[in-house]
Amino acid sequence: MSQPVCGVCGHPCRAAFRAPQPEIAPDLDMRPGEPARSTLPDWIQVCSACGAAAPALAELPAAAGAVVKSDDYRLLSTTALEETLPFRRWALIRERQGDGAQQAEALLQAAWAADDSAAMSEAAKLRGEVAALWADTQDVETGLRRLDVMRRAGRFEAAEAWAAELGERGPDELARTIINFQRARIADRDIGRHLISSALPPPAHAPHVSHGKRATTGFWSRLFRK
Ligand SMILES: [Zn+2]
Repeated sequence: MSQPVCGVCGHPCRAAFRAPQPEIAPDLDMRPGEPARSTLPDWIQVCSACGAAAPALAELPAAAGAVVKSDDYRLLSTTALEETLPFRRWALIRERQGDGAQQAEALLQAAWAADDSAAMSEAAKLRGEVAALWADTQDVETGLRRLDVMRRAGRFEAAEAWAAELGERGPDELARTIINFQRARIADRDIGRHLISSALPPPAHAPHVSHGKRATTGFWSRLFRK
């Protein structure tokens, strides 16, 4: 196999990182459990030659070079917390390529990196950006993740309003359980991290999972893979 090279500048790079399978339940925002969780700093490669950032530098289109050379991209290194920088660079590349979904994922990963650096206000600001990108979602999983993002950003009133809206959409039993768990945390003004497993009632390991409910099937099967 030939050495992979950066898609923007052609400089040799590493093969893309592959995180280990999580063995512990994810957080309510779907940050994976250990051992995948603590590999976060390895998820984004940064090209040592041109500064491009991506999960797989070799897969970047050459056109991403225009973003990488832009003032906005360069400025990130002076404004962003260092640990969040690779994720924010990747988010900007996806934004300029018109991929708001991957932009949101990258910004949420930046928030996790800020969490790991105990940079609370940075994490809250990043979560605010993710919540805005997900504002119009009709997807059940994304809606539930947005609820967690808003709560953890300390936007309690907006989170409560979003919980009410999700509740009116006719969630299935598991989604309703998570919404109720979040509402109790919101009422407590709790911005902490919680595992999905802690939101579910005790023998909550797989029983009602396979009702064949449309959008949630993949979500729940990932939760209960363990
Ligand atoms: Zn490069």
